Amino acid sequence: MTDIHVPPDHPRRVSLETRHRIIEGHKKHIVATAGLLAHGRGEAFDYMIGETTTDVAKEAAQATVAAMFLAEWPVISVNGNACSLVPDELVELSDLTGAPLEINLFYYRKEREDAILRTLMEAGAKKVLGTHDRPSETIPELSSNRRKVDSEGIAKADFVLVPLEDGDRTEALRRVGKYVATIDLNPMSRTALYSNLTIVDNIVRALPVMVDFARELADAPDKELKDIIDSFDNTANLRQSIKLIGEHLNDMARQADRHPQKFVDEVSD
Ligand code: ATP
Repeated sequence: MTDIHVPPDHPRRVSLETRHRIIEGHKKHIVATAGLLAHGRGEAFDYMIGETTTDVAKEAAQATVAAMFLAEWPVISVNGNACSLVPDELVELSDLTGAPLEINLFYYRKEREDAILRTLMEAGAKKVLGTHDRPSETIPELSSNRRKVDSEGIAKADFVLVPLEDGDRTEALRRVGKYVATIDLNPMSRTALYSNLTIVDNIVRALPVMVDFARELADAPDKELKDIIDSFDNTANLRQSIKLIGEHLNDMARQADRHPQKFVDEVSD
């Protein structure tokens, strides 16, 4: 998966390997240059949340999978960063939930579309929507390239999962009546706030959790799925994620007060 060698006990190992995957994705034209910066923003929030999947993120992931099963026409929107980090899991989630994968790019280049398509196919995808040769329609609320959507995908979807997204597109999708779920490490981003369901977690951790929930809920009756969604409060969940970041930072500050040298040694390791 990655050709850099990070010692197994390095405290930043997973983060460094993930970063390297994004860099490799950029070299292969999967990730746009702006995607490198978006990843850095995500890394910063991951640091603050403690680089762990919180219980509230798990609840949001479960509600999102339940919503995917209940939707008539669910679709998973794929951009360069998501494709580069979790191609196998995207295909698995798509297979388990019946939600097709649709490529949707802000910085469109045919070369990028081809590289993303190839990666998803290599990961086992049988069909990928959103390619230039497919029938398309436009979402008038959006001015960028991404206004073009697949006629058999986002155009007719009632549910769209938009991981690592920007706020304008999320808002536009909501305005045209889509039920939107996202995965975003920043609980204060506009995407996190505008989405119906927000999983505040790193996509590299969240997708495997979603795949597990998809296996678990595959045969669940609609009533059970509805109960999961009805008992989930996205605003409370976001508030809790912000609080957890605050608590984590307070813990760090307390450790620094108590054992200044030990703290510096550990953090700068
Ligand atoms: P908004 O317009 O919604 O306020 P933004 O301008 O920060 O967001 P982008 O720069 O496109 O949007 O960044 C996409 C979002 O994806 C950021 O909020 C970032 O924290 C998040 N992000 C980046 N990498 C990851 C990752 N690996 N897992 C989860 N979220 C990530």
